[in-house]
Amino acid sequence: MRLVDAFGRVATDLRLSLTDRCNLRCTYCMPAEGLPWIPRAELLTAAELARLARIAVTRLGVRSIRLTGGEPTLRPDLIEIVAQLAALRPRPELSLTTNGLRLRGMAEGLRAAGLDRVNVSLDTLDPQRFRRISRRDGLADVLAGLDAAAAAGLHPVKVNAVLVRGVNEDEAVSLLRFCLRCCYELRFIEQMPLDPHGAWNRAGMVTAAEIRSALSEHHRLVPMPGRGSAPAESFLVDDGPARVGLIAAVTAPFCQACDRVRLTADGQIRNCLFARVETDLRTPLRAGEADEDLATRWVMAVHAKKAGHGIDDPAFVAPQRPMSAIGG
Ligand code: SAM
Ligand code: SF4
Repeated sequence: MRLVDAFGRVATDLRLSLTDRCNLRCTYCMPAEGLPWIPRAELLTAAELARLARIAVTRLGVRSIRLTGGEPTLRPDLIEIVAQLAALRPRPELSLTTNGLRLRGMAEGLRAAGLDRVNVSLDTLDPQRFRRISRRDGLADVLAGLDAAAAAGLHPVKVNAVLVRGVNEDEAVSLLRFCLRCCYELRFIEQMPLDPHGAWNRAGMVTAAEIRSALSEHHRLVPMPGRGSAPAESFLVDDGPARVGLIAAVTAPFCQACDRVRLTADGQIRNCLFARVETDLRTPLRAGEADEDLATRWVMAVHAKKAGHGIDDPAFVAPQRPMSAIGG
């Protein structure tokens, strides 16, 4: 079986959310007061995650797994989860998306457990702005986490940045220079309507085109061919080998090449970041359903995937869960 939708797209990349909790409160992702967290009893255990991942890898053709959240490093059993996923055959490629706050103390252990790569979110190099965006202090810890990830061999270390109008929109060039200096691969992500207050508006969003033009004033950017299903359009910087990516999720959606499927921390399949319908795997899993039947539910969930996220459709309605509870 494969995870094919009605438009012929095949999902091979699984985003596993490990928790909806977080130690930051980024304005574009969570409200200051946090959210009503998923009750702990509803979070999939390490063993349940490993079982569903095994079904995905051995029966459904999933080849890569990204651990995300919320903040996945808040899971006390993260190393155990990574080790169990690394033991799957065929072995999936394993990566982690993190805010980096706890990475310094964990990078070596994660690497030893079998993690291949990390993406660290970093929107600013200014401590005051860091606090304004994430509503916490922690820039020094994130920078130390990045260092530790590189030292542990979690290559390539990627940096994800969201630019917010009126806050850090002027930092595109300084973030790129920092990443060039440290040999991190930088990607800018357009802000999507997944904030908890529904405050997103298109006019306020810093677009990929704006970022490209800001970077181009100081660096030569040459588009790289062969993007495949990658969400980022990649550019060679100053003749390479360094690259920078622009993820124009809103202004140039890549839905037609999407190869992703998501599993929330409470065991719901989401066939799209913006889906409004989920498929519950936790209940049948806990009721003892056979692997084969769980796999069939998964296939049906992906088959129902819509053509695109429809942000530009006047009838667009944002998903009920904010980004942190979906798994970014
Ligand atoms: N806590 C981890 C982190 O920040 O990397 C993992 C989860 S977070 C939801 C994953 C990514 O989603 C981060 O890079 C974050 O910047 C991005 N993100 C969150 N809300 C977003 C939004 N409304 N639009 C675009 N990207 C967003
Ligand atoms: Fe937490 Fe990541 Fe959301 Fe920031 S973007 S609040 S670090 S989950």
